[in-house]
Amino acid sequence: MKNSRQSASTKQTMNPITRRHFIGSAAAACATTRLRAEEKAAVTSLDFPLVDFHVHLDNSTIDAVLPLSKERGVKFGIVEHAGTKENKYPVVLSNDDELRRHLAMLEGKPVFRGVQAEFTDWMGCFSPAALDQLDFVLSDAMTIRGPKGERIKLWEKGVEQRVDMSNKEAFMDRFVDWHVEIMAAEPLDILGNSTWLPAALMPDYDTLWTPARVQKVVDAAVKHGVALEISASYKLPRLPFLKQAKAAGVKFSFGSNGRYPKMGLLDYSIAMAKELGLKRADMFTPAPNGQKAVQRRKLG
Ligand SMILES: [Zn+2]
Repeated sequence: MKNSRQSASTKQTMNPITRRHFIGSAAAACATTRLRAEEKAAVTSLDFPLVDFHVHLDNSTIDAVLPLSKERGVKFGIVEHAGTKENKYPVVLSNDDELRRHLAMLEGKPVFRGVQAEFTDWMGCFSPAALDQLDFVLSDAMTIRGPKGERIKLWEKGVEQRVDMSNKEAFMDRFVDWHVEIMAAEPLDILGNSTWLPAALMPDYDTLWTPARVQKVVDAAVKHGVALEISASYKLPRLPFLKQAKAAGVKFSFGSNGRYPKMGLLDYSIAMAKELGLKRADMFTPAPNGQKAVQRRKLG
């Protein structure tokens, strides 16, 4: 009897528990879907939403990458290379029509719309009215001016023969001046891939980026209102640079330089932000109309 009552009692209580468990699981699944972005933000313990401002669509489409944005809880800033046709990339936007097609393709999508500007002559390709439509302009220092004024991509094979790097210190001084020059001469919102070095110099990164050189770059960034990207793919800049930049009042952005499906993977950027104690006020956000770099800086 005892056994049978126990058994009945177990039976009666099992079902509600099982059902509650089932309902609980279903509710949790819905909440996970609905609140994924918020949960992600909570997990990072940062007080600002995650944005990857350096996303390329090279081998993909906007509709293919949007689910990754949702899944990873990271908003994307989509960039396309922009400048003269002398710049060789799968796509290079070189005039207003091409830029407007890029903007129209992203119209109404939950992304920021940007370009990755190439070399120093990109501004002449576009009218101010077309550039005004962009949320941001990102560029980098990886294409340098050669001895005859030609553009040299520092990541290409054999670049050491085209750009004299035999004296690493002398090259670094020129490279730092190049960073300062492009920030002074171009209306940039973000300097991407910042502190990246050509392969021949990368092993000496820690000694070549002296505090004096870092200061020149961060002072230029502050002076011209250019945010410095914390690159998740290159894992750069390293912490000493970032600490000096933060002390100078630089703003930062996160970037993956990602092609499908690697966009929005920001582990290094998030880790550095936590280490530095970055807050919302330290982060780049696209300026309102009228205050974008292409609007507030009257250049070239
Ligand atoms: Zn890029």
